[in-house]
Parts: sequence; structure tokens; C-alpha cells
Amino acid sequence: MGQSDKRAAFAGLNENKIDALLSVSETPFYVIDKEIIRRNCEVLYKVAKNTGCKVLLAQKAFSGFDLYPLMSEYLDGTEASGLYEAMLGREEMPGKEVHVFSAAYRERDFTEITKCCDHIVFNSPAQLKKYGKTAKAAGCQIGLRINPECSVQDGGIYDPCSEGSRLGTTRENFNKLGCAEKEMLDGIHFHTLCEQNSDALEKTLEAVELKFGDILGNMQWVNFGGGHHITRPDYDVEKLEKCITDFSEKYGVTVYLEPGEACALNAGYLVTEVLDIVGSSGKTTLITDVSPACHMPDVLEMPYNPPIFGVTGDGCIKYRLGGPTCLAGDVTGEYTFREEVKTGDRLILGDMAIYSFCKNNTFNGMPLPDIYVIDEDGSLDRLTRFGYADFKARLGKLSK
Ligand SMILES: *Cc1c(COP(=O)(O)O)cnc(C)c1O
Repeated sequence: MGQSDKRAAFAGLNENKIDALLSVSETPFYVIDKEIIRRNCEVLYKVAKNTGCKVLLAQKAFSGFDLYPLMSEYLDGTEASGLYEAMLGREEMPGKEVHVFSAAYRERDFTEITKCCDHIVFNSPAQLKKYGKTAKAAGCQIGLRINPECSVQDGGIYDPCSEGSRLGTTRENFNKLGCAEKEMLDGIHFHTLCEQNSDALEKTLEAVELKFGDILGNMQWVNFGGGHHITRPDYDVEKLEKCITDFSEKYGVTVYLEPGEACALNAGYLVTEVLDIVGSSGKTTLITDVSPACHMPDVLEMPYNPPIFGVTGDGCIKYRLGGPTCLAGDVTGEYTFREEVKTGDRLILGDMAIYSFCKNNTFNGMPLPDIYVIDEDGSLDRLTRFGYADFKARLGKLSK
């Protein structure tokens, strides 16, 4: 999503890989870096091994299922935000756990959800009442997402604990549950973090214990959600491991983590070509064949400036980067380059495996970038290619 440091974003690149990226004939394209995916998963696996917790891939951040066989060597399964991601996890990580959380389930999806999920987490007492029995009868474990009402980030669109949040059940609302429903619960889920270190988790756990401590001992598992930036260079893994072991021992529960970002952090690039260079009022803009609005929506939503390979901030030539769409604000960011850029040059944007191709769109009729995977030796494999037919199929009736 954004806050990775610039050097870490390109730590996976070596000369072979760079040559390979520059030799692909058609831009733009995303590239998944297999070596970094493996490295991230190794870090997560170690946490699981040291603490006895289980780690799931949150697919909403990264659903590059061609990498699932590799990831399943290290992870315990996938987390889904609804039916489609649950189906994807079931299909592409066979034999592994599938967990789902949605703020509300549709009736017509629910039977299918019970067929492909091991854990189903509900957002509210009403959803638990409506679907709990069906889920149990189908052999699923069920949980309730709680809201510990403890904000450990500054209230932006990624803070599920902001006032009036629709996510999670507060203690006040939990108290309205009947005994039968409370007894049905196998576990508790919370998700309150975003790109955060383990000190934020520590603080959150204090709030969880304060508000819900009396019921935790009745649970089989507690899911700590995502937002743990575990694979970032400055992440305090030791503190995370202590949080997990202390908590699971105290309450006799299995702890689950479901990081998205941490699984694929810095494990992707988006390669673009400069199509034109324009200027007004002393500002020079490079028009690239990628659009932040279409191909890296978090650049505008977070917002943040993605790192560019070779651009370290110590240059003196100022450029703004913008997409080819007609949206005035379709701007990637402002950068200082050391060297002048020419039309036709290629730029490599970093940390583009997460919240990128699982979130892109064809606004303005923008083509979707192809997706490749790259190996340590620089060998590239194209996973998918998009064209006009994909654009048109989403917009209306094809056969008349
Ligand atoms: C977004 C989300 C995650 C993953 O979050 P990351 O910030 O990508 O680690 C996990 N669980 C739930 C319920 C989420 O909404």
C-alpha cells in the first residue's frame, strides 16, 4: 500500500532481473518477484514455528495465485473477503485452511461459502444469529469480529476503530447476544492495524483483554487480523512473538495472523514507459503509460508516492509523474531525478505486488498491464495478458 522504504522496495533486483525487465517489448506490466515472495514467507513461517501460531495470506492484498504453490510451503492457508476469494483460496491452495470475513454475507452466497471455508467470521450479532447455525451444521468453525475501540493509527480510511466504524462488534453490542449464540462461538477475530509494527499490536491486545478478557478463555482461537508489517526491515519480530506466545498461553487459544502486505511486501514492480514530457508554470510532467487511478489505486487512496528504481531523492531535476487518463489528479507523485528523462525511457516502480493488480480497473478505457513472474536468474514468465475483450466484457452484452 505504501509505507515501505525506498531501498527495501528494490532489494530484490539484481542485474539479471533489471536486464530482463528492460527487455520486455510491451509496457506497462507488473512483475512478481518470486525470490522476495519466498523470503517474506520464510520470515512468516519462522514466526509460526517459534510461537505455534498459524499464518494465512490475506488475498485482498495479493491474489497472484500462480505463487500459491510456493507460498503454501510456508503458510497455513488463505483469508478471503467473500465468496470469490474463498473459492480462489480453496482451488489454488488445496489442502490448506480457508477463512472468510465479510462485513455482511448475501444469502445466495452463503451455502457455497460454507462449502469452501473452514472458518467463517461474522461482523455483527445479527449476522451471527442469521447464519451461525447453518455454518455450524455445515462443519465450519465460526467466529465474531470484535471492535476493541482502540485506535492505534490516525483515523484515516484504513482505521477500523475510528468512531462509528461499521467493522467489528463493540463490547456494548456483544452484550446483546443471547447465551446460545455466545456458546456457538469457536473464536474471536479483530483487525485493527495497517502497515504497523508490533508495538501497535501490543497496545491493541491490552484493549482486547480489557474489553473482552472474560470471554477469551472460552475460545479455541483468536485471529489477530492483518496489518502486521512483519517483513519490513525495522519490524520488531521478537515483540510480535512474545505477544503471541503470552496471549496463547494465557487463554489457551491458537493465534492466527492474516497478513496481506507482509506476504508480498516489496515483491513486485510495475514497469512503465515515458510517453511524453509536458510542462506548464515551471512544472515538468512525465506522462507514463501507467495511470495511478487505474493501475495503482492506493497511490491516490492512501495517498502515497511509490518508489522509483534509481530515484533516491538526492537528485536535482524535478519531475512530476502522471498517467495518460483525462483525470487531472491522475498524478503518481513528484520526484527529483539525478538524470534527465527522455521520452521512451522506462521507469520501474517498486512495491507493486500488493493492492495493485488485485485492485486495478479500466477507467478511461485504460488497458490493464500484463502480469509476469521473475526468477532469481532473471527468467520471466508471463502469467496473463489483457486486451480489448476484457475491457468490453465488463461493460455490457457481448452477443446481440
Ligand atoms: C485487509 C485485511 C487484512 C490484511 O491486511 P494487510 O494490511 O494487507 O496485512 C487481513 N484481515 C482482514 C479482515 C482485512 O480486512
